[in-house]
Amino acid sequence: MSERRTDQLIKSVQVFSTGSGGQHKEHRYGSRLPSLLWVLTSRSWVEVPINVYVIEHRDGLVLFDAGLDPAIASDPTYISNAIGRFFRDRLFRLNIGPDDTLAKNLGRLGYAAAEVRTVVVSHLHFDHIGGIGEVPQAELLVSSDEWRLLSSPHPERDFILREHIELPGAQWRQIDFTPTDESLLAPFGSAHDVRGDGSMVLLPTPGHTPGSLSMLVRSGGGPPLLLVGDLTYDVGLLMKDQVPGTGDKTQLRSSFAKVRALKQKLPDLVILPTHDPAATKILRNNLPAS
Ligand SMILES: [Zn+2]
Repeated sequence: MSERRTDQLIKSVQVFSTGSGGQHKEHRYGSRLPSLLWVLTSRSWVEVPINVYVIEHRDGLVLFDAGLDPAIASDPTYISNAIGRFFRDRLFRLNIGPDDTLAKNLGRLGYAAAEVRTVVVSHLHFDHIGGIGEVPQAELLVSSDEWRLLSSPHPERDFILREHIELPGAQWRQIDFTPTDESLLAPFGSAHDVRGDGSMVLLPTPGHTPGSLSMLVRSGGGPPLLLVGDLTYDVGLLMKDQVPGTGDKTQLRSSFAKVRALKQKLPDLVILPTHDPAATKILRNNLPAS
């Protein structure tokens, strides 16, 4: 896909989608109605991908988010909690086949799942952790604020499925953000540098969930990328401060403002949500090395 340069820390950034999902318009664009009302009554759906970003760093392969597990479509007990299943069916229409696994998608890009060294998980919702069982050798990075949700009374009601997260042998590592003196990152105040070389920096962007994070990817050969998970479903909405229909609106607005401040400092910044239908095209036009 991209010409590989060895003098750069980031050799390529690519994306694939593990199936797709339908979400309600109210979920994507926000609504004045109480969320329970639109969840139960809305009949309007928007089809979105469930992206996994694949970053080839000089020291190994890094994924941002791990997609959906095809078992969710074939196994009626994948979500074991009945209330969770009911709301899953009201909130999402999932369209995923047996060939949409993480490993098969990586294979189509020319990589083996065994090559993955690190998975950065933007947050713990089921459509972002589905492939972790296919990369048992990888270190799984998550914010400690997000990990704390696992000990809340009923995380499965918020689509955080412990049985698919706390897999035997899974190498989870909780990230605590530390103060950064890089002026560029000042709006965020704290950060975590994945490799210690500035090429992949995690930033706290709570709102969709309390521990959601984003990752800034920088290489010499292309524009900086900000992978934002589910902070927004559409960059245009983030730029005009239109928050989605779920999440903590105050936290979302605060994180939106920080991302916009970063965009002011880095005008060529490319912001990529996990459910961005245009991601493949955008990355093709903004390859780090070409
Ligand atoms: Zn999602």
